[in-house]
Amino acid sequence: MINTSTPIYMIDKNKNNIYIKRDDLIPFSFGGNKARKGMLFWKDIKRKKADHIVTYGSSSSNHCRVIANIAAGENIPITIISPKEIEKETFNLKMMRKFGAEFIFCPVAAVSKTIDSTMKNLQSLGKNPYFIMGGGHGNIGTQAYVDCYNEICEYENKKGIKFDYIFHASGTGTTQAGLVVGQLIAKDKRKIVGISIARKCPYGRNVIVDSVREYLGNEVSESDVQNSIIFEDSYVASGYGDSISDIKKYIEIYMNKYGIPLDETYTGKAIDRKSVV
Ligand SMILES: *Cc1c(COP(=O)(O)O)cnc(C)c1O
Repeated sequence: MINTSTPIYMIDKNKNNIYIKRDDLIPFSFGGNKARKGMLFWKDIKRKKADHIVTYGSSSSNHCRVIANIAAGENIPITIISPKEIEKETFNLKMMRKFGAEFIFCPVAAVSKTIDSTMKNLQSLGKNPYFIMGGGHGNIGTQAYVDCYNEICEYENKKGIKFDYIFHASGTGTTQAGLVVGQLIAKDKRKIVGISIARKCPYGRNVIVDSVREYLGNEVSESDVQNSIIFEDSYVASGYGDSISDIKKYIEIYMNKYGIPLDETYTGKAIDRKSVV
């Protein structure tokens, strides 16, 4: 198993003392949050002695690349159900093919039916297939970011500091749900701000509420859950992959000044712009 704990350090001494947690440095398949989640899914796959992975995602999906990479390394077959409408020859898709992933491209409207029939088909062949939701959504993905939250707390305790805010890019909401669950368990009062990269309110926010509930059940009050979720949707532009103004400029600043690679779909939308210029 790959160790998924990652470094935190101060980027720059500016008026806000901004620190960064480098989950992009998780040492597996280019890192990132899908690698952190993927390692926990792999643990569960082994525990359940599954012999075939089925998951869902577009041809640009980081989640599907990481899971296909795990499958290749562990020599377990993988089937990826993917929406036909957004089939594109991306580097992730090329890598997934190299990892030996089998693809079923189908219309978005037929995805859930196709997942069901793929699972049933494998079961009827005597297989024990394991399904992972798109983006690594669900309690295991949430757990990955509860763990991440606890790493942040450990760092704070060691250094004798307390972060007032945590900002991050929010897509399927799993990362945000995990951080929020971590905060609710620790009863911390800081603000966790998810910068949405595609979804608008209230949908994007409601998905996070549901994920937090799914993980914590009735352990926490509805008002605590609601108050802990800050979902900022003013950076989505017209949706997934659509750039916001000046994004290239800020990505360049982060690369030139700090050597930190960001991207236009996720982290570039979420980073601080005010204190770096
Ligand atoms: C998937 C992804 C996100 C968003 O994470 P969610 O848990 O889906 O909200 C952010 N950054 C990168 C690079 C991703 O691949």
